[in-house]
Amino acid sequence: MSLAHGRPYLAIPGPSVMPDAVLRAMHRASPNIYAGELDEITASLIPDLADIARTKGKTAIYIGNGHAAWEAALVNTLSPGDKVLVPATGRFGLFWADMAVGLGIVPQIIDYGRSQPVDPQQIEDMLRADKAHEIKAVLATHVDTSTSVRNDISAIRAAMNAAGHPALLMADCIASLVCDRYEMDAWGVDVTLAASQKGLMVPPGLAFVWFNEKAAEVRAGKERVSRYWDWSPRVAPQRLSEYFCGTAPTHHVYGLRAALDMIKQEGLEAIWQRHELLARAVWAACEAWAQGGPLRLNVADPAHRGHEVTALSLGAPHGTALRTWLESKADVTLGIGLGMETPEDPKSDGFFRIGHMGHVNAHMVMGVLGTVQAGMSALDIPYGSGALDAAAAVMAEA
Ligand SMILES: *Cc1c(COP(=O)(O)O)cnc(C)c1O
Repeated sequence: MSLAHGRPYLAIPGPSVMPDAVLRAMHRASPNIYAGELDEITASLIPDLADIARTKGKTAIYIGNGHAAWEAALVNTLSPGDKVLVPATGRFGLFWADMAVGLGIVPQIIDYGRSQPVDPQQIEDMLRADKAHEIKAVLATHVDTSTSVRNDISAIRAAMNAAGHPALLMADCIASLVCDRYEMDAWGVDVTLAASQKGLMVPPGLAFVWFNEKAAEVRAGKERVSRYWDWSPRVAPQRLSEYFCGTAPTHHVYGLRAALDMIKQEGLEAIWQRHELLARAVWAACEAWAQGGPLRLNVADPAHRGHEVTALSLGAPHGTALRTWLESKADVTLGIGLGMETPEDPKSDGFFRIGHMGHVNAHMVMGVLGTVQAGMSALDIPYGSGALDAAAAVMAEA
């Protein structure tokens, strides 16, 4: 018997659930790309995008995914042979370092493993030791989606300042933007990266890079940047095509406009609070399950957990078995374990992730939690009692 009839639910950490308002905005005939409203709508996105990153700096939009944002940030500020410091707290930090390698940049990786946040003191010590200032940038990840570790970006800036080091601070906020509190200017970040398909609730296809005066000066000092990736013309466009170095991503523009309207209406502070409360409800359920079975939260300290994704372990092969049960029996898709391989579990089958980012509410989160519990029952995976009660009690705080 299958219970998988009704609205499917993609509970993964991006792409996230698309609101009906975004889908409706995109469901239309192709617009004129030479004149008319598309130009005005695109221009209207820029100040709203700057607001969600909490910056007075510039916003460049690319047709691309998160990897495109990574590459854009690197090619505008760095050159082959430059060194960068990469404090990695999961797979995405390591992937970004690998993007740098592909560009001839030399990453110095500090690997904090799979459950621990960045230690700002270590960043300070390493930057102090770099007396010749060979390190040109620190590539930090706000929330690493593979582990759900959240890093303290303002503490990393404080460490850089304490060391008196001039490197740029770049922050990958692809998972966290609009989900977790983030203040680009107040936290002293020079370059921020995001993509459309996570907290922004739009299909994959748009990448965003915000940069301040200091990063703009570094770009200005470079002899050349490949035409497509150069952020300079994108932030001073004379016509619609210059925002995107070619044809505008027509339907994404409409979708993003609708999403930003929703974000404005709810308000960033309220959105951050909603994500925090729903995350705490997920954690409360997981902690109750952990009392009587193998389920474990990947990050022990709640202060170091992101509010948009929760990485969990059940032991191989239970993580994959649970995901398969939820998908086939209930039409709920959970995130795979990513970067959690060990010799005993070469495919991360012991892990899974629950995405709770963007367009999510109490009943969606309760639905996922209830369905996870049903799956564990069906698969004879033991678990502690009271998980749904614990989640409901957190939600009642609202
Ligand atoms: C999703 C994600 C990426 C990669 O984004 P793609 O769109 O898959 O290229 C990078 N960093 C973080 C933190 C992410 O969550």
